[in-house]
Amino acid sequence: MSANHHPALLATDPELASFIAAEETLQAQTLRLIPSENYVSAAVLEASGTVLQNKYSEGYPGRRYYEGQQNIDRVEALAVERAKGLFGVDHANVQPYSGSPANLAVYVAFAKPGDTVMGMALPMGGHLTHGWGVSATGSWFRGVQYGVRADTGLIDYDAVRDLALAERPKIMFCGGTALPRTIDFAAFASIAREAGSVLVADVAHIAGLIAGGAHPSPAAHVDVVSTTTHKTLRGPRGAMLMCREEHAKAIDKAVFPGLQGGPHNQTTAGIAVALHEAAQPAFTTYAHAVVANAKALAEALLARGFDLVSGGTDNHLILMDLTSRGVAGKIAAKALDRAGIVVNYNTVPFDPRKPFDPSGIRIGTPSLTSRGLAPEHMPVVAEWISRAVDAAAKGDEPALAVVRAEVGDLMAAHPAPGLPLA
Ligand SMILES: *Cc1c(COP(=O)(O)O)cnc(C)c1O
Repeated sequence: MSANHHPALLATDPELASFIAAEETLQAQTLRLIPSENYVSAAVLEASGTVLQNKYSEGYPGRRYYEGQQNIDRVEALAVERAKGLFGVDHANVQPYSGSPANLAVYVAFAKPGDTVMGMALPMGGHLTHGWGVSATGSWFRGVQYGVRADTGLIDYDAVRDLALAERPKIMFCGGTALPRTIDFAAFASIAREAGSVLVADVAHIAGLIAGGAHPSPAAHVDVVSTTTHKTLRGPRGAMLMCREEHAKAIDKAVFPGLQGGPHNQTTAGIAVALHEAAQPAFTTYAHAVVANAKALAEALLARGFDLVSGGTDNHLILMDLTSRGVAGKIAAKALDRAGIVVNYNTVPFDPRKPFDPSGIRIGTPSLTSRGLAPEHMPVVAEWISRAVDAAAKGDEPALAVVRAEVGDLMAAHPAPGLPLA
């Protein structure tokens, strides 16, 4: 591959063009297992890199603070209509710049600084923006946090209820970044009702599974659905907030003018395309294939003696505790990277190690499924992970190089969407 895929960029800035070309090669040749990543389609890439970039459009369709919105209004209205249809919600705001600002907008809409908010603890699989201390959401607000049971690795709904009734949080988040199991939105809804909390389902990771019918939808249960658009949903980097009509004004005011200025119209266009793609029958097949691959990979890893948090997965994500393999998560993740397998190190619930040097790695199947890998490929993926982790424990660099070559062969046979062919 070469930077020739971007001729204007190559002519203007060959140094930067070479970095992008190298990234195209890296994404083509590696087995990408980070569960929050994916490959967008060529159509999404095209829509996201257009002259819509050139337009300011503070406000909402039909109510803008700048003129010349004839086309921008249609782009945003189309994205909104598609989001409402796909997720079965009354209202959608497609302007949040990313998942973290989307969540901050929820605080702006429903809480005041100092109010109590509740979410899952970061080391248990929650997200920073659910009131964790190092995030502004945990220092400007009073975050109280729930977790999973030590014996099962599953959310302890009784403990969630006890905490909610004791603390009466203004806002309650469910969802997270390292949760391998189905979220019971109805259970959270009944707790939030009792506690008088605004319930937010943060489905950033699983939005594509919900759109494709491979995870239950929160739409009928929660006050607000927050999601990124770039994970399993396979859109550009961005986010959406969706809600019932009663909360529409509060959400819109919080995003603009509460938190943001002009929306990123080129991203809105990419989101609209991704939502269109996600409404096709092929995407339902994709979402179910992501889960089938994750289940097959979990089984193959268990067969190789790995410990998985909660014993497996219901969705796209697997959290591996490497303690019994005698290697720390970061050392394993870096060795896997050298073997052409891209993962991230991650805390496991009740991790005795530090967050920057934890016991686990987090993997997932959205990207490999986008390349057409199927359950029959998962035993070899598990074998590569096993060989690389063992090589990491022994410092066996040649073994990592062998895995890297094998990975490269399989990847070459399964081109990724959106990437230029070599
Ligand atoms: C990824 C993620 C976010 C944050 O999204 P960014 O776009 O990285 O800001 C928020 N919540 C959850 C649960 C996530 O997984």
